[in-house]
Formats: sequence, C-alpha cells, structure tokens
Amino acid sequence: MLQSTDARTGALQGAAWHESTPEQIDAAVAAAASAADAFAATSNAQRAAFLRALAQALGDNAAALLPIADRETALGLPRLEGELARTAFQLRGFADALEQGGAQAFLDEAAIAGAPPAGRPRLTRIVAPLGPVAVFAASNFPFAFSVLGGDSASALAAGCPVVLKAHPGHAQLSRDVAAIAAAVIAQCGLPAGVFQLVEGASVAVGVQLVQSPAIAAVAFTGSFKGGTALARLAAERARPIPFYGELGSVNPLVVLPAALGNGPQALAQTLADSICLGAGQFCTSPGVIVVFKDGPGEAFVQQLRARLAALSPHAMLNAGIRAAFERGVGQWRAHGKLQVLVDGPPSQATPQPFLAQVDAADFIADHALQEEVFGAAALVVRVDDGAQASAVLNAIGGTLTSTLWGVPTGETLPDEAVLALVRTAVQVSGRVLFSGVPTGVAVTAAQHHGGPFPASTAPFTTSVGYAAIERFLRPLALQDAPQWLLAKEGAFF
Ligand code: NAP
Repeated sequence: MLQSTDARTGALQGAAWHESTPEQIDAAVAAAASAADAFAATSNAQRAAFLRALAQALGDNAAALLPIADRETALGLPRLEGELARTAFQLRGFADALEQGGAQAFLDEAAIAGAPPAGRPRLTRIVAPLGPVAVFAASNFPFAFSVLGGDSASALAAGCPVVLKAHPGHAQLSRDVAAIAAAVIAQCGLPAGVFQLVEGASVAVGVQLVQSPAIAAVAFTGSFKGGTALARLAAERARPIPFYGELGSVNPLVVLPAALGNGPQALAQTLADSICLGAGQFCTSPGVIVVFKDGPGEAFVQQLRARLAALSPHAMLNAGIRAAFERGVGQWRAHGKLQVLVDGPPSQATPQPFLAQVDAADFIADHALQEEVFGAAALVVRVDDGAQASAVLNAIGGTLTSTLWGVPTGETLPDEAVLALVRTAVQVSGRVLFSGVPTGVAVTAAQHHGGPFPASTAPFTTSVGYAAIERFLRPLALQDAPQWLLAKEGAFF
C-alpha cells in the first residue's frame, strides 16, 4: 500500500491506496507504446510548445504543490521553491534546445561517382526516438529528478513517451504532478499514452516495468543497489535495452596547499555548508576531503570541524534513508583507523553532521571507507603529497565530481604533481571543479552529470543538461533516401 507520509513526524496523511497492479502496468506500457509513433512524428515546435506548457502548469500549480512536497520530503519551502523553478526552467530549456534544432543530427553527404573507397552512395545521418522510456524518480529531488524532472523532460523532448515509476517517498506529490501532466497532454492534443504514471512500494513494480517488452530504455536515479539490480534486468531481457543509471558518488574534494593562502575560514565555511546542504542528500555532496599533512592543512581541518559542528541539518527524506545514514555513520564511528572530529548526540528528529579523519594509506587500504554515506557525513583524508592525493582519487574510482582547490588558474602549466592530479581527476570524474563546491548542478548545454562506474552505468551520457536528450535518440544512416524523406531534414515522420 502507498500513503502520503509526513517526513518530519512519520505521520500518515489521508487514505492509503494500492500500488499499480501488473495489469495496470501493462496498460500503462501499452498506452505509451501506442502513442510512440504519433509522438515521434510531432515537430520540434510542437514538442517545444508541449514542454513550455508543462513548465507553465507547474508554475501555475506551485502554491498547491509546494506544501505537499515539503510535508512529504522535509526539504523546506525555500529549497523546494528553487527546485520547482529549476524544473520549469529545465523544461523550457529543452524547448529552446529543440527550437534551435541542436538535438536532431542531420548530416547529408552527397553521392560520389566511382569505385569505393572514394566513391560512395548518398548517405544521410539522422536520429530516431527510441520509443517508450521507463523513468525511475529519485527520492531526493521531488521535482527536478521526479515526475517532470530532467529524465522525463529529456525523453519527452526526444519524442519518447514516458512511463514514470513514482518514488513512494513523495507519493501524493507524484500523483498531483502526473495529473497536471495529463491535463497538459490533453490540452496539447497529444495521446494520453505520452505520459503514464505507475506507483509501487515494492520492487515488483519497477521489475515488471523494466522487463516490459515495449520499454525501449530506462533512466534511473537512486541507489547503487537498486540501480545495478535494474541494470542487470535491462541487460538480461530477450531484447536488452539501454539503462541510464545515476547511482551517486562520494565526490572527493582536494585542498591543495595553494588554496589556503588567504586562510582557511571562508573555504571551511563554504565546505561545511555544502556537506550539510539538504541534510547531505545530494548525489554531489562532498564525502571525502583530501587535505595535506602540513600546518595550513591542520588549520583548515580545525576550521572545518568548528564550522560543521555549528550546523544542524534538517530532517531526512524518510525513515529508511535516515536509518541508512545512522548505519553508515555507526560503522565509521566504530572504525579503528578513524579519528572522529564532529559527532553530535543522536536526536530523534534530525540527523547530526559527522566528520572523521583518516590517514591516506588506511583509507586506500579499506574499500568500505570509500563508499558513500548518504547524508551530512564526510571523511577528511590526510595525504603527504600530490601523488598520494591522486592515489586517493584512484582508490575511490568513478565519481560524479572531483573538486580541486588551489590549482594555478593562469596560463602557465602547473608543476607535474598538480598536472598528474588533474589528469587523475579527469580520468575518474564526470565533472571536475576548480573552484566552488560540487552541490548545485547547473542545467546547461555544457553540463555533464554522470561519470565512470559506479557513478553512472552509462558514463558516455549525462542526466542533467541538454545533452541528456541524446540518450533517447538512436543514430542511423539513410542510404539513397527518397526526396520526401530527405525533405524532413532529420525530423521524424
Ligand atoms: P532506491 O532505493 O534506489 O530507489 C529508487 C527507485 O528504484 C524506487 O522507485 C525503488 O522502488 C526502485 N528500486 C530500487 N531497487 C529496486 C529493485 N531492486 N528493483 C526494482 N525497483 C527498485 O533509492 P532511494 O529510495 O531514493 O534511496 C535509497 C538510497 O539511495 C539512499 O540512502 C542513497 O544512498 C541512494 N540515493 C542516491 C541518489 C543519487 O543521487 N544517485 C539519490 C537518492 C538516493 P521502491 O521504492 O518502490 O521499492
């Protein structure tokens, strides 16, 4: 059974309802499949108008949606207002991208007479929408990575119907946003199958969805365990399909000595705020802080300790995520090689920030320390030099982001130790930051939110930014295509 739950108190709200039955899931997938050709044939302008209408409807309904989102997630109204605005911005951004025509590759090469390899037929490269996409909403972004979030927006922009697996953590909000989407679809004269919602409080719903033969691709944001289980199912189907899983990461941040020239205070505050942002429930939350074993490094750690101890994260998204956080922190607390720096008394209502310090060699030797603890918790890893900092990044492996503070910013090449560290960061990360903090992922054409496994199951793709649409468009070549088809210039038909 599903029921709306107050994330702060655990109190159940309103009546409970049943999760989608196998028949309802089949019907949702069938509706999406039957809408696929008509939706693929819409023009870029039609889909752009549709995405803009969705953005407008979200904004128009903000006053009703925000209190439900706040009650179900405890993320707070200011953050949720910003997230709803970002979600509408993202929908409009995909509309802009469609109107600019960037997503629809159309490369037309004239025939050349003569024998190959110089001679060739006329070849035209286009892209085609994949078909119905299953999208798994994330718990930690009830708007931006949920019903009308980036995965849905990019699939719809590509011309693919979406079957959305709602996250049970914001069950009522998901229903309400899906109802808004359905009204916009009707208003735009599109088939209802363009967007379908399925609901589950058990893994059975997601399993059936991924195994449904008509589903052509899956987009997922969530846990390593859930993402890898579903990726396996997608690969084991009679017709395997692409699985775009964003599984979170530990997001190392390296504080090079050069970063501390102006003292540690401001940077320590910025970092403490980032660790506690949203109670640490960000896939880009900094989880490993690499600091040199020198005087300025020590002063930075002490500042970070003081600033973090002064912060009070808000309640977490749900009891399961809170329990996982306490379990993870408990394992760190009991670890013989860690020196605990910040650890508040356990409180019923809200989590306490946690910070511990460990020597690089001990960190590198113990894989358990390299795993994400989802929440306001981080490890300070103390290193002798840049080579050991690189070794820490390599031990962590694939990560959504790496942040390097103190890399020279001018035109002169840095020394080899810094260059090697940058090279390592590029190898292991989807995004490398040279200033600021990794929390906050701008929605833009140049963005990349992914990274080598285990950050993502598809490191060549991004789940944020306008390149996300490419996940749902399959390239193909037309050879000696008829004029009527060439006249479409890559638009589907
Ligand atoms: P989750 O447990 O991975 O669940 C995400 C979605 O996937 C839910 O709809 C869930 O369905 C479904 N699912 C999970 N495992 C499945 C399986 N084996 N088969 C079929 N469906 C499956 O993520 P969560 O509930 O958001 O949070 C749990 C943990 O995930 C957190 O503690 C954190 O570590 C991590 N997380 C990571 C990110 C990120 O940014 N990558 C975001 C949020 C959370 P049901 O709930 O209906 O079972």
